Parts: sequence; C-alpha cells; structure tokens
Amino acid sequence: MNQQFDICIIGAGMAGATIAAYLAPKGIKIALIDRGFTEKNRIVGELLQPGAVQTLTEMGLGHLLDGFDGQPIKGYALLQDEDQFSIPYNKNDKTDFHGVGLHNGRFLQQIRASAIENPSVTKMEGAATDLIEDKNGVVTGVKFKDKVTRKITDINAKLTITSDGFFSSFRKELSKNEKKVTSFFIGLVLKDCPLPSPNHGHVFLSGPTPFICYPISSTEVRLLIDFPGDKAPKRLAIKEHLKNNVEPFIPESLKAHFNQAVNEEDFKVMPNHYLAAKPVLKKGVVMLGDALNMRHPLTGGGITAVFSDVRILGNHLMGMADFSNTQLIHKKVRMYYKERCYANANVNILANALYGVMSNDLLKTAVFQYIKQGGDHAIEPIAILAGLNKNQKTLIKHFVGVVLFGAKNLLKQGLMNIPKVLLMLWQALKIIKPLLKNELNIFTFVTQRNIETHLIHTENQIGQFSLKH
Ligand SMILES: Cc1cc2nc3c(=O)[nH]c(=O)nc-3n(C[C@H](O)[C@H](O)[C@H](O)COP(=O)(O)OP(=O)(O)OC[C@H]3O[C@@H](n4cnc5c(N)ncnc54)[C@H](O)[C@@H]3O)c2cc1C
Repeated sequence: MNQQFDICIIGAGMAGATIAAYLAPKGIKIALIDRGFTEKNRIVGELLQPGAVQTLTEMGLGHLLDGFDGQPIKGYALLQDEDQFSIPYNKNDKTDFHGVGLHNGRFLQQIRASAIENPSVTKMEGAATDLIEDKNGVVTGVKFKDKVTRKITDINAKLTITSDGFFSSFRKELSKNEKKVTSFFIGLVLKDCPLPSPNHGHVFLSGPTPFICYPISSTEVRLLIDFPGDKAPKRLAIKEHLKNNVEPFIPESLKAHFNQAVNEEDFKVMPNHYLAAKPVLKKGVVMLGDALNMRHPLTGGGITAVFSDVRILGNHLMGMADFSNTQLIHKKVRMYYKERCYANANVNILANALYGVMSNDLLKTAVFQYIKQGGDHAIEPIAILAGLNKNQKTLIKHFVGVVLFGAKNLLKQGLMNIPKVLLMLWQALKIIKPLLKNELNIFTFVTQRNIETHLIHTENQIGQFSLKH
C-alpha cells in the first residue's frame, strides 16, 4: 500500500531523528525510516560542543540531554611533553557555555523517542533502497524494504530528506563530491580514570599523531587515537601503534587505565572523512548530515554542524503554509544549502586545518605556544572550536597568527632555521588553501552579525506552518 507524507526522512541518526523531533510537533506528516531503531554502541558523536548544545536548546530540544549521565564539558586542556594548560569556554562568569560528553547511542534514543511520540510521525524499520521520480525528474518518495516482511513499498512524500550518514547510498546521485578518508580513529574506553583537567576535552600533542579524550559518563573516558593513512589498520598494526606511538606519551596518571583498556582489546575503529558539501539541486529531495558534509572529528564539530543544518532547514520548512507547493519547497532547499555554508565554514575549516597542523611537528609546536599565550589567542580560537564564533575572518586571522608566530620563534633561534621556516610556510599553505577553496566563497564572508540576523529572520517565520496547516 502506498503512503503519502509531507516529508520522508531516510536515516534516523543524529540528523534525521533531530529534524523529525523538531518538525513533528508542528503537525508535519513524517515517515521516519531507519535500518534499525535499537540503541547503537558507537564511538562517534560523543562530545557535543557548546554550539551544538546551544542550537539544540534554541530548538526547544535541550531537555533531551538530560537523564543518561552526560557530563558537562567546560573547556579544553592541551598537553605537550611536560607542558599543559587549559582554556575555558567562558571568558568570564557572564556566560555559561558548556559542552556535553555522552554516550551517543543513549542520546540518539532520546531524540528518536521524542520524534516518534508525535502522532504525525510514522516510524518505519527497514531500508530505503531507491528514490522514486516522476516523469519530470522530481523526487516523489522512496522505495522502502521492510526489515521483517522484506516487502517493498512506495513511500510518497513532497520532500525526501536523505540523512543516511557517511556511507550514504544516495550521495552518488545528489552530490558532486566524493568523500575522502583522512585517517582513522581507534576508540578505547578508560574506566574510572581521573583526568588532568576534570570535565574538559583533552588534546595530547606529544606523540607522532594526536590523540584526544573526554568523559562520556561519570565513570568512563573516551580516548580517540589517530591512525594516519587511508587504509583501515589491522589488529596487529593497532597494537603496535598503541605500544610505540601512544603508550610512551600517555601521562603517568592515565597510564594504568590506558594499559587496562589495551589489555582488554576492546578497540573500535572508525574512518575519519572529509567531504565538502557540493550538493546537486534536485526537486523533491535534500541532503542533511554526514551524507552531505563531513570534517575530521578531532574538534568534535560534526554534531554542531548537523544541528545547525537541522535548524536552518527546519526553520525554512516550518515557514511554509503547507507542502503542496513543490516550487516553494525547492526554493527553501536552495536557501538552506546557501545559508548552511555561512554557518558551517568555520567548523569545517578548523577541523581539517587543526588536524593538518597537529600532524605536523613544526606547526604543532607553534599552535601550542600560540594558544598558551592566553587572552584572545586562546579565547577566540576556542570559541571557533566550540561552534560559537562563526566569523571566518577570525579563523583566518588566527591561522595566519599561528604560522607567523611559529616562524618568528624559529627565526629567533637563528638564521639557520630559514629553511625550516620556508618549509613550515609551504606546509601551512598546503593545509589551508584547499579548505578555503572548498568552504568559502565570496558570499561566505559575512560577519557573525549577518548570520545571526539571517537566522532570526527565518526563525520569525516559524509557526506559519502550524497556523496554516
Ligand atoms: C570517529 C568519529 C568520532 C566522532 N566524534 C564526534 C564528536 O565527538 N562530536 C561531534 O559533534 N561529532 C563527532 N563525529 C561526527 C558525528 O558523529 C556525525 O557528524 C554525526 O553522527 C552525523 O549524523 P548523521 O545523522 O548524518 O549520520 P548517522 O548518525 O550515522 O545516522 C545515519 C543513519 O542512517 C541510517 N541509514 C543508513 N542508510 C540507510 C538506508 N538506506 N535506509 C534506512 N536507514 C539508513 C543508519 O542506520 C543511521 O541510523 C565523529 C565522527 C567520527 C567518524
């Protein structure tokens, strides 16, 4: 039996479930499809930056972070050799920005439950296999294969949202870009482990590759270790990497917990991708989440971008009287694709630029010393990392600042360092140039104020749907 919906969402992950939870209370008729609705145990999306928490709260969904032992994150600690310092998210006590460390699976189940409890949402367990198009090439829904009966049915909708994550089956048709593996993260859990800076994200720069950790519950710390290259490491290679490139650089206070986790061999490995958003505009369909856009997870920026996208797209859709006007839906989708570039440029550029910088010996030391100076050298970069400062000029200012600071320090040690300085400048350019090309265009150079005005403008339109539907 064919069914007709306003929106069909492929993938009830962070993006799909959140937009369903945001739109459903307005009475929008939604089909929410996922291969499985049971809780997953993944190493992704376990640190929400303050920008993500703020957006979720502004969408009226902040309560979904309560009740499953999530931990407040107050800032970041950077550690290199014997040196360490921390930077708070808040400059003073006038603001209360915080992130949350959590179990992604538990959080996702709360978002899904909040979506599904709305009578306008139909949960469908199974796989979306193909987009359905009418004779004009407009997408009118999807073919759905039920998980239990294996029966294939047509799900008809005025708009299909493909939020099927990083292995998206629909990206081929809907994107001009292909994802690239930048490295892998090996995930371990440290149990009952006190951190050098409690309730902080930690970035360790002493080893050949960076590793990070943060609390995900009151008794667990997630440790994510970078494994460079584009080939997934085998078990033996993982063990060697941990023994030679990580263990010697683990601070004494964490060592016993680290060794215990290594001995238990409960590793999880995930690929880290970069995918600049290059959507193909097609009527009746829109991409959301990792299906559209990915960045290195070193900075924990994925969900900040996902929630920002959910809010932008959600506000546009709520601003419509109903879903009968295909032309208007298409216009809203175009506006979403354009606005999301402004909103996510900093998160995307910072993630991959910082990964490049932290994988480079000269630049890594430069960034550590630069931020250690404190003041705006620390507060402004952390506001970008937090997803709170979206001004691209600030990001570029600090990237250039780090490189010049590193060059100055090298030259202070003597002119014999000139070749090193030139190499560092060249490497910095190699890191930043493709990112700027991908993530910025002339329209992206707007100030923070412009972005906020834009969001407020679209937010003022919210409510129109529920009034007129
Ligand atoms: C190692 C790693 C660590 C990360 N850590 C962080 C972090 O700490 N903080 C952060 O903000 N971000 C982090 N991220 C990024 C973040 O996890 C992602 O950006 C986010 O999960 C993307 O959400 P999504 O909904 O697009 O995809 P997903 O959450 O992956 O959801 C996709 C959903 O689609 C479903 N699906 C797929 N295909 C189909 C189909 N054909 N039919 C039906 N259903 C389908 C899947 O079952 C899944 O439920 C990390 C990423 C990685 C790789």
